[in-house]
Amino acid sequence: MFKEVLETTQPIVYQTLTNALESEHLSHCYLFVGDKGTHKLETSFLLAQSIICENRKTFACEKCVNCRRIQENNYADLIYIDEDDKNIKTKLIENLQHRFEKTALEKAGKKVFIINNCEKLTTKAANSLLKFIEEPTGNTTGIFITTQVDGVLPTIVSRSQTLNFKPLNKEDFFSYAIEKNIDHLSAHLISNLVSREVDIIPLSKNKSFNEAVEIFCEFMDRFFVNRTDSYFYLQNSIANNKRNQRDVIKYFLDVSLLFIEDYLNNFNSEDKNYFNLLETAKNSDFNYSGVMKAFIDSRTSLNKAANGLLLIDQLIYKLLEV
Ligand SMILES: [Zn+2]
Repeated sequence: MFKEVLETTQPIVYQTLTNALESEHLSHCYLFVGDKGTHKLETSFLLAQSIICENRKTFACEKCVNCRRIQENNYADLIYIDEDDKNIKTKLIENLQHRFEKTALEKAGKKVFIINNCEKLTTKAANSLLKFIEEPTGNTTGIFITTQVDGVLPTIVSRSQTLNFKPLNKEDFFSYAIEKNIDHLSAHLISNLVSREVDIIPLSKNKSFNEAVEIFCEFMDRFFVNRTDSYFYLQNSIANNKRNQRDVIKYFLDVSLLFIEDYLNNFNSEDKNYFNLLETAKNSDFNYSGVMKAFIDSRTSLNKAANGLLLIDQLIYKLLEV
């Protein structure tokens, strides 16, 4: 089953979708970003199945008639468009508006559209989608897929929940970063966060990223000694960081989630401090799933959150309950 593959290859994406499906708080629009071969397309079909399947337990059963029809792209309320496929493009885009306005044809009453390579959408095609993106209806879910988020229309980016799929060639990225004299910890974190080699050096020099790593290390150091103290520290350091607060929070959450992933994968870090943090986590009553859920919820809310500090307060509140 693909859901098991997703759980092991893209644990953060898996957990984010699990949270959304379990709480029935799916976004009306998703933007899947990542390199080729990172399972974005398979995940979009699994999500479509999970929205429609009547036998689902969190994720779709992947076996029933509807699941199989979706998998074969043979389900009337699934609109799948690949912008790389020139043959189907013109005809489908012309019909797109029409198909959106129609009520669902299948019994489940839910529609899903998947647009692969969405950075190639023409303005005309994108315009026919804008109405849906800006005024979502309850029964339609959109999934946009791209390898190049820079090329995606800003409206799509701002209205969608972005899910980043981890690069598969991160070992190459890591070696490249080490070659460029980036320290071991940053090289490890950066190679997991970027999807293109050209982004490695700029991120290593990014002020918000470096501040976030510093805050993360100090926070985690304190977290395993005195949790209350670590929460005060986090609140204060974010509050003191007014200029690039949102970016610092974003990187802090990204790095924290990577840490949990490394903990789950028994990652053996060459950075002494990071190695010790992982060892401490292994030997403590670290409730990784609760902590992971709290971080993922904050990461999900970050786009919509008006106030970064409030978001951190909510994160701490959730961590206190773990
Ligand atoms: Zn099913």
